[in-house]
Amino acid sequence: MKTKTYKLIDEVLNRSWSDEFSSAVGEWRYKGSYIMDDYECACGKKHITEVNLIKNDLTGEHLELGSECIKKFLPVQPTQFFNGLKKIKNNPSASIGRKALKFVNRYN
Ligand SMILES: [Zn+2]
Repeated sequence: MKTKTYKLIDEVLNRSWSDEFSSAVGEWRYKGSYIMDDYECACGKKHITEVNLIKNDLTGEHLELGSECIKKFLPVQPTQFFNGLKKIKNNPSASIGRKALKFVNRYN
């Protein structure tokens, strides 16, 4: 787990203006979440399905993170949002849900 954390910090710093992770985090903005069949997190964790996109406004770079790594960038977890996505994936006429919508409105 530790090496994955280092890899994530590396990936983030390589794409950030700041040289320090704690201040580099502030350069990144959450852009959205989506479900993939089989994806790899920036930390190297494989087979993730819940992908979160963040963008650095200073460098213009993007990173795609799994549900563990996004915790370093978001105070609130997109769990409800993913639950909503799964719901409409199974039934396109279903509502994404109030909590998922609240999340989308707040972070997009
Ligand atoms: Zn990760």
